[in-house]
Order: sequence, then structure tokens, then C-alpha cells
Amino acid sequence: MLTVQRVVLSSRPGKNGSPVPENFRVEETSLATDLKQGEVLVRTLYLSVDPYMRCRMNDDTGADYLLPWRLEECVDGGGVGVVEASKNEAMAVGDIVTSFNWHWKTHSVIDGNLLQKVDPRMVDGHLSYVLGGVGMPGLTALLGVREKGHVTPGAGQTMVVSGAAGACGSLAGQIARLDGCERVVGICGSDEKCQSLVSELGFTAAVNYKKGDISTALREVCPSGVDIYFDNVGGAISDTVISQMNSGGHVILCGQISQYNKDLPYPPPLSDETQEALCSKNITRERFMVLNYMEKHEEGLLQLSHWVKIGQIKLLETIVNGIENMGVAFCSMMTGGNIGKQIVKISD
Ligand code: NDP
Repeated sequence: MLTVQRVVLSSRPGKNGSPVPENFRVEETSLATDLKQGEVLVRTLYLSVDPYMRCRMNDDTGADYLLPWRLEECVDGGGVGVVEASKNEAMAVGDIVTSFNWHWKTHSVIDGNLLQKVDPRMVDGHLSYVLGGVGMPGLTALLGVREKGHVTPGAGQTMVVSGAAGACGSLAGQIARLDGCERVVGICGSDEKCQSLVSELGFTAAVNYKKGDISTALREVCPSGVDIYFDNVGGAISDTVISQMNSGGHVILCGQISQYNKDLPYPPPLSDETQEALCSKNITRERFMVLNYMEKHEEGLLQLSHWVKIGQIKLLETIVNGIENMGVAFCSMMTGGNIGKQIVKISD
């Protein structure tokens, strides 16, 4: 028997409530470590907190591909860890493994066939990148830009990214630049984030939406209007960006985090004015879902890994330590406490 810590969902924020760390509880349990054929014992290294988890906190997630977390049961999400014992022929002690349904637990016994092996060379040894830039958020940025962005090298396009200093947004801007956008402008929630986008990640300019009039600020940094909008946030910020878009432009509808604490369907309804702007300017706004492009994931991860290794894209992370801080880290990410990918380090 091994004493392990795990995180359970102790209460729901309600469909119109903001999540608080107290919605989660850490508890100690015992784990039987005798393995059945096919099982492995894994030690958790890193866990991910992501915006979609807000839907899993509701008893109805509103999405058929997402199951709600159950009250008093162990929470799960993206995780990466190391195999400490194995009765699975395909997995050896020391292998690095990952899953989208990793339990928020310091150790787990799990059917090895439910895990994917990770080649640490793909992430230059930075195993947390598996949950960020060389993982689901990286693929979201890459495939979002490539599938819905219509970037045309040499066409002098301006792309705006909202949620620009987060996991997906910080990557989307860098990829748009590599793919040939002339100007890449980020919108995010602090001056420090704006500075990091421009000085570290090569964005042309950045706008702090919490300061001043974003419409004027955006007009100044997008003098030729906006051709492509990578939308992570929705709401008033997106209404402003769309109002400054050029005819024939493209909105990459990635996420709408500003609306996730409201009881609204996804995607949330647009104002008449914004709907009219899209229509009259012939702007496409197709919903993008990274899970709909599974056949492109392997190649996408190779591309992201290559860019990271040769220094063409830079990955920022905000790392919090300790399984007891999962709830704090989740709520902090939901309110902008992170620059780059929010990660929780569980063990060395
Ligand atoms: P981030 O790392 O971007 O973290 C969330 C960020 O959202 C915060 O840092 C905060 O930054 C910003 N934010 C929070 N509330 C608001 C608000 N009211 N208005 C504006 N910004 C806000 O998370 P991810 O990169 O993981 O996710 C970004 C988006 O992408 C989400 O909408 C998510 O749902 C979506 N997504 C979609 C996928 C798909 O397949 N379509 C897959 C993965 C993610 P700030 O300081 O700037 O406010």
C-alpha cells in the first residue's frame, strides 16, 4: 500500500458562478500497488489546468464530448508522469507517459493501454511542454491558424489574437508570424504580459484590455484594419476586434473564456451589431475544435517540437508547485494569473 494524495471536486460553482479553490479538496488515500496484467504504476510529474475544465465543473457540461466531474470523486485532465512499476509489455520502468484523463493524484495504477508514451527528445527534456506548446494547446494554435486562418504569405495581413499571453494565444501569434502574417497584435490583461509578447515573443504590438479604450488602442496598432482574428475570449473584446475587421477576413473561433462563468450555450450568441458586421463584410467565423483533427496531431506535434528545438518559437510557462495547489492554479488561470501555459508540478 502507498499513501497518495488526490484532489476531489467537493462542490460546483453553479452555472453562473465563478470557480473558487474551495470547490476542490485534497485528501489522502491508500493505493494498492499490486498490479494486474497490463497495468502500470505511475508517479505524476505535471498536471495541466485548462479553461474547458470550467464546463466539467457543471453537472451538465453543455458539450457531448465532455463528461462532468462527479462530486466527491477524483478529478482528471491532462497529465504527464513516469512509470514506476509495470506489468504491461509495452511499458518499462522509467518510461514517460501522458494522458488527457490523468487523475489528479500523486500516484495511480492504470491500464497501460490508456496511456501514450512520450519521447523526451520531442520536448528537449522539458516534460511539462507535453501539456503545453508541444501538446494540446500547441496543436490548437497551429491547427487553428492553419485550418481556419487563411494566412497568405506576402499578402501583408494583420492578425489579432485575444487571450494572447496564454497557452494557445502566445503560440498562435508566433505561428501566424512564421506562416507569413505581416503584423501580429496581441490583446491581454496586463502591461507586463504586453511587454513580454512584444519583447520576448516577437508580436508587433500588444494592447492591455484592462486599461483605456481598446478600440482606439487597437486602431493605432492595426492601421490597415484586421484580416484575421484568433478569438480566445469572446464578449466585448471580440465585438471591438470584429468591428475593425476588413472585408473577406477570417475569425478563428477557438474559445470564449470571458463567457465561461455564464449559463450560455457554446458558442454564446453574438450581438446583432456584430452579427451584421460579419455578414456585411463577408467574414468567416467557423467553430474550431482541435479534437476534430486527430489525424493531423502527430505531424503537428513534430512541427511544434522542431520549432521549439531550433528556437523559432518560445514557450512561456507559469509553474505552481504541489497537488494541494491544483484548485488555486485553476482559478488563477481562469482570472489571468498565468503568462503562457499554467502548469502544476507534482513531483520531481
Ligand atoms: P490561457 O493560458 O489563455 O488562460 C486563460 C486566459 O484567459 C487567462 O490567462 C486570461 O488572460 C484570459 N481571460 C480570462 N478571463 C478573461 C476575460 N473575461 N476576458 C479576456 N480574457 C480573459 O488558456 P488556454 O490557452 O488553455 O485557452 C485559451 C482559449 O482557448 C480558451 O477559450 C479555451 O477554451 C480555448 N481552447 C480551445 C480549444 C479548441 O479546440 N477550440 C482547445 C484548447 C483551448 P488575461 O490576463 O489576458 O485576461
